[in-house]
Amino acid sequence: MSKIKVIPCSGIGKVFGLLARESVLMVTQEKCPNDTETLCLAHIVTGDDEVVGKIKGETCITMDGCAKYCAKKSVEETGGIVVKSHKVPDFMKAHRGEEHGTGTYLTEDGWKYAEELAEVMASDVKEIKGGVN
Ligand code: SF4
Repeated sequence: MSKIKVIPCSGIGKVFGLLARESVLMVTQEKCPNDTETLCLAHIVTGDDEVVGKIKGETCITMDGCAKYCAKKSVEETGGIVVKSHKVPDFMKAHRGEEHGTGTYLTEDGWKYAEELAEVMASDVKEIKGGVN
């Protein structure tokens, strides 16, 4: 089985976009480096041949910054199979009142939230891998 693709939206200038990107990096670089990899959303959108080839028919997890679901839609339009789709605000309930940072930096609470989002996706990875065996 090839690596699960974990794709965040680009969400530039918004803390939710930064949370999406940082949490995906935690999954692909720290929590599940052997089972996952990430790809650049802009390349997916522009139809870069190499990236399209890596996405088509592949198992993907997306993390979006808002209900516009840019990552999910782009991956699906490219032929990727989105088995788990999340958006950062879905997990905000327990974090109301916290300051997470801005579009360019995360506070300590922001990093904790990113870690929680990364754990959600790491559980997805376990579940997906579990289903394969
Ligand atoms: S999903 Fe929302 S935050 Fe992310 S790139 Fe799209 S509009 Fe921006």
